[in-house]
Amino acid sequence: MSRQTLPMTDALHDYLLSVSLRETDVQRQLREDTARLPEAGMQLSPEQGQFLQLLVRLTGARRCLEIGTFTGYSALAVALALRDDGFITACDVSETWTDMAWRYWQAAGVAHKIFLRLAPARETLDALLEQDQAGLYDFAFIDADKEGYLDYYERALRLLRTGGLIAVDNTLWSGRPADPAVTDADTAAIRAFNRRLHADTRVDLSVLPVGDGLTLARKR
Ligand code: CA
Repeated sequence: MSRQTLPMTDALHDYLLSVSLRETDVQRQLREDTARLPEAGMQLSPEQGQFLQLLVRLTGARRCLEIGTFTGYSALAVALALRDDGFITACDVSETWTDMAWRYWQAAGVAHKIFLRLAPARETLDALLEQDQAGLYDFAFIDADKEGYLDYYERALRLLRTGGLIAVDNTLWSGRPADPAVTDADTAAIRAFNRRLHADTRVDLSVLPVGDGLTLARKR
């Protein structure tokens, strides 16, 4: 028995999905539609989407934030898991991608739970803070430009209530942060982000090797 996380082969990943995944038809169609885009690599994996749903249900989250919506798969997953009085404030800058998202949110009957903010996320989050929304959110998911991660995290932390949860995608970034020879801006940003969170006594922390690395930080 290994004391480390299992290496994920294609066969094992297929098996994992076969005994885990409970995707709706709309979720699957959105994923297949997104897979045809040149930016398909930015798509959340389906098991991550399902894990976000579990986190939302475990925490009883009602008010959610999303930074980086892309074609809407993660917001769709979260919205499907939310109670009917729950909502997501979704931040993105791309009209093209979020137009696609809207079609699927409507097809799934969850569009009324998603408030899309088409603007740089720092502006949207700062506006929420100015509107006295600090401490009101239960859950935040960060999956956007890597150089913005620390800014998004700091703002999301203020918007979260005590006990609220932040999930951050791509924190293992294809393994690049572990290789000192890799020094591009995105990898450096992820490294700095991971170091900062490791030392951040305001949160309980876990870095999970799910997908491309998923960090969970619970506000103390
Ligand atoms: Ca991602």
